[in-house]
Amino acid sequence: LPPPEPGAVPRRVMTVAGSDSGGGAGIQADLRTFALTGVHGCVAVTAVTVQNSLGVTGVQEIDPEVVAAQIDSVTADIGTEAVKTGMLASAPIIEAIAAAFGRAGIGADGPIPLVVDPVCASMHGDALLAADALGTLVGRLLPMATLVTPNLDEVRLITGIDVVDDATQEAAAAELHRLGARWALVKGGHLRGSERSPDLLFDGARFHRFDAPRVDTPHDHGAGDTLAAAATAALAHGLSVPEAVAFAKDWVTRALTAAYPLGAGHGPVSPLW
Ligand code: PLP
Repeated sequence: LPPPEPGAVPRRVMTVAGSDSGGGAGIQADLRTFALTGVHGCVAVTAVTVQNSLGVTGVQEIDPEVVAAQIDSVTADIGTEAVKTGMLASAPIIEAIAAAFGRAGIGADGPIPLVVDPVCASMHGDALLAADALGTLVGRLLPMATLVTPNLDEVRLITGIDVVDDATQEAAAAELHRLGARWALVKGGHLRGSERSPDLLFDGARFHRFDAPRVDTPHDHGAGDTLAAAATAALAHGLSVPEAVAFAKDWVTRALTAAYPLGAGHGPVSPLW
C-alpha cells in the first residue's frame, strides 16, 4: 500500500476493540498494522483486558456511552475511511456501537466499509464476549458488515457448522452471508491436520479461495486481529474486498513467519518491521 505523502492528511481508519496489556493482540496489534500499512489509526476502546502471554486474568468493560462517544468524536472531526471491530465484550456495548455506526454511515449500507472480526474468546479460551451477547453481535452487527472474518471456532458458535472440508467451509460462508454480511471470509487457519491455511471468501455469488502454507508456530497471538486490521487498511486505500483479503492474507502469513516468543506462554505475530 502506498505510504502517505509527508505533511498531507493520510487515509484514516478506526478500530473498535479491546486493549491487550501484553501488547500482542487487540488494539495494540491493530495500531501496529495500521502504522505499517500507512494509515492513521483511531480507536474506540471497548474494554481493558489484564493480559500477558499466559492469558487474560481480568476485564474492565468501558461504559457503552463512552464507547459510542469515542466513535462520534472521531467521525465528527477526523473522519474515517474504513472501520474494524474486534473484542466487543457485551450486548449493551454492541448496541451502542451499532447506533453510532448508523449515525456515521459506517457499515454495509453507508459509504464507510466495516470489517467485523467476531472475537469471542482468546486462544487460551478466556471469554472476550459475554455469552448472552453473541445473538446481539449476529443480529445487529453482521447485517452492517462489509466483511466478517471468523475463525473456525467463531464459525461454529455463529452458524453451528463444524468446518472440516471444502463443502462445510462453503456452507458456513453461505450461512454467514445469509445472516447479513456482504462478504464472509471463513478462515481455515485452525483446520485440524491441514498443512495449508485455506481461507474462503463469499459474496453470495462467487467463492474466492486464498491459500497459504500453514505456519506452524505457538506464537500466533493477535493473528486474527492483524489479518482484519490489514484488510481494513487496504479497504481504506480503496482496494476491493477480494484485493483487500489477498493483501491481508499475505500480510498475516508473513507476520506469522516472523512471530517471536515473549513471556512464558504464547508470543505475538510480528509487526513487519
Ligand atoms: N485480547 C484482545 C483484547 C483481543 O482483541 C483478542 C483478539 O481479538 C485477543 C485477546 C485474542 O487473541 P488470541 O486469539 O490471539 O488469544
